[in-house]
Amino acid sequence: MEVPYKVVLLFLNIPRPKITYMTFKDTGLNAELLKVIEACGFENPTPIQAQSIPQILSGKDVIGSAQTGTGKTAAFALPILHLLKDGPFNEKVRCLVIGPTRELAAQIKEQFVLFGSKSPSKVCLLHGGVPYKAQNEALSSGVDIIAATPGRLLDHVKNKTIDLSDVEYLVMDEVDRMLDMGFIEDVTKIIRKCTNKNRQTLLFSATVSDSIKRIIANNLKDPVEINIGIQLSPASTVKHEVYPIGALQKFDLLIALMENMKEGSTIIFCRMKDGADRVARWLKEREFNCTVMHSNLSQKLREESLRDFKSGAAQILVATDIASRGLDIASVTHVVNYDVPEHSEDYVHRIGRTGRAQKEGDAATLVALDEMSHLDSIEKLIGMHIPQRRLEGFNYIQEPIIREMPSENQPRRRRNSRSSQFGRRRKA
Ligand code: AMP
Repeated sequence: MEVPYKVVLLFLNIPRPKITYMTFKDTGLNAELLKVIEACGFENPTPIQAQSIPQILSGKDVIGSAQTGTGKTAAFALPILHLLKDGPFNEKVRCLVIGPTRELAAQIKEQFVLFGSKSPSKVCLLHGGVPYKAQNEALSSGVDIIAATPGRLLDHVKNKTIDLSDVEYLVMDEVDRMLDMGFIEDVTKIIRKCTNKNRQTLLFSATVSDSIKRIIANNLKDPVEINIGIQLSPASTVKHEVYPIGALQKFDLLIALMENMKEGSTIIFCRMKDGADRVARWLKEREFNCTVMHSNLSQKLREESLRDFKSGAAQILVATDIASRGLDIASVTHVVNYDVPEHSEDYVHRIGRTGRAQKEGDAATLVALDEMSHLDSIEKLIGMHIPQRRLEGFNYIQEPIIREMPSENQPRRRRNSRSSQFGRRRKA
């Protein structure tokens, strides 16, 4: 007797894949946008799109829990472009999207430009780290849609180079991250500046803390909640491992890991900006082809780093958690947590940079003794024990060992016999 598929899944306790039966046509988007969507190669709406687009089109405020990588940007950009379609154009700011990082704001702008390619609407990106002049000129020529980070946006409000009183669509993306980064006051000020009574407000956040609940209660009208299930466990396509190691041996272990890896792209996460700089410098000294990204770098350098990493010109990106969220880089095969993240959710976000779109990925976390408690919290959060591994020659050293850190004057460490294709390819 043939056993039905659903019964087999139930018996094996395997969750059924989420299937969206809706087509983009069913969402109510106009023909022009449907053509753009087709040109992008999107066949069907993702779950967040299938649920959000009709609600946004019907004028509802929305609270969305969805991670980057789920098609969240299109879930709000497409219906907003539909709602803006009758103009007026280039007269006033009608849509404002705020996000935590410059890179995320830039990605949002790019998607509005892409989906709005057939619309006369103008999109402007506002973030810090670049001169005001070009932004002022763009604003004075009339823009319809703004993608911004909170600080620079408020500077423009203060300088009266922008007026938010006409904003009809306010989107707050990655709100939990914005609050983590200390933007609570800025976010509140921005909302207060968006005084249009007919404003529709959309809020996206992985988690909803008490502060976020207050923002929702005070600023959203009868919102619809859309929760497509934040994954608090790494994607099943990611193999993740923990390496217990003495703090001072971390760099040597990192080198051994990098030399063992097959070809691909790696993001190495460090907790501190100077730590990221140091690891990148040491890797470069060993002729690894790497680039670095953190918030102390100039905007130009941040953009260059990201461009080089995305294009494959650099195979390693050493970064702080600024790169753990929002960045959509399809080709990352390895994530290494040089430091264990202090906030457990950041582990999931960091690991989420690999194993995207059902591709396989590896995630290694180097854990020193004083980081064990962070690891415990992460394991509690994701509800599983992360397998531990030890590389030959690397023991878990509990006593601090004083040794000189690599410096420019030290001779280069000879590659050992484990040197792999990956290591060799990274020579400058
Ligand atoms: P996001 O979650 O907005 O960062 O989107 C992640 C990636 O998914 C982006 O590269 C989008 O272009 C892509 N994407 C968005 N919607 C769809 C869809 N319906 N089908 C296929 N890819 C999509």
